[in-house]
Amino acid sequence: MKVLISNDDGIFSPGIQVLARALSEVAEVLIVAPDVEQSGVGHSITIRRPLRYRRTKLRGLEDIEAYRVDGTPADCVVLGVHNSGQPDVVVSGINIGSNLGYDVTHSGTVAAAIEGTTLGIPSLAFSLRTGEAELDFSHAAEYAKALIPQVAKNGLPDRTLLNVNFPVGKPRGVRLARQSTHSYEDSILMREDPDGVPYYWVAGTPTAEREPDTDYTTVVDGYAAITPLYLDFTHSRYFADLAEFVPGLEPA
Ligand code: MN
Repeated sequence: MKVLISNDDGIFSPGIQVLARALSEVAEVLIVAPDVEQSGVGHSITIRRPLRYRRTKLRGLEDIEAYRVDGTPADCVVLGVHNSGQPDVVVSGINIGSNLGYDVTHSGTVAAAIEGTTLGIPSLAFSLRTGEAELDFSHAAEYAKALIPQVAKNGLPDRTLLNVNFPVGKPRGVRLARQSTHSYEDSILMREDPDGVPYYWVAGTPTAEREPDTDYTTVVDGYAAITPLYLDFTHSRYFADLAEFVPGLEPA
């Protein structure tokens, strides 16, 4: 089993290194990851400048083939597949911070898995919720070691990826969950630079969404949440209502 690992926190993040170490016990692992943090870049790709693909020795992981790219997570997956061929699975993470609700649209972590999915490769994103406790990637990494061979064996449906989020601390269990409407109250901080020119800092505090069975509620309650995401964004059930008012429609 060949596994391509990427992330958006950068190749030197402990999250990707713990994941690679764990998966190397059950798979042939290739790391292709951004050279610096790319959190929040979503599914962007680099098309107006050259990209560099550099062999990288990671301390303690010298036996794992690794490359750093001066681009986005999606760039990394495209280049990794181009240079080394189709892996059996693409795994992105383990991200420092959960990717819940609308986070999946901003997340570079999820985007790397989306890129794998669009290339026809079963793909997963792993994220770890942060809290008071010290970061402990071990539970998510151990679970990845159990889940990924199952995904390689069973495959995933077309256009489908798995978004996996781990809670703070030891999970109470693993649950399937739907995507929440979890978002942020945008709080924009405005400050002034030394020249008196204003600059802005996009912060935001999580909204308190507590619907049952969602990714957000599941992870806040201390469980690992697995959400299958589907890349057909078409809202098919809305076709009939939409046809009631849009002008110039061809008769059905
Ligand atoms: Mn990140």
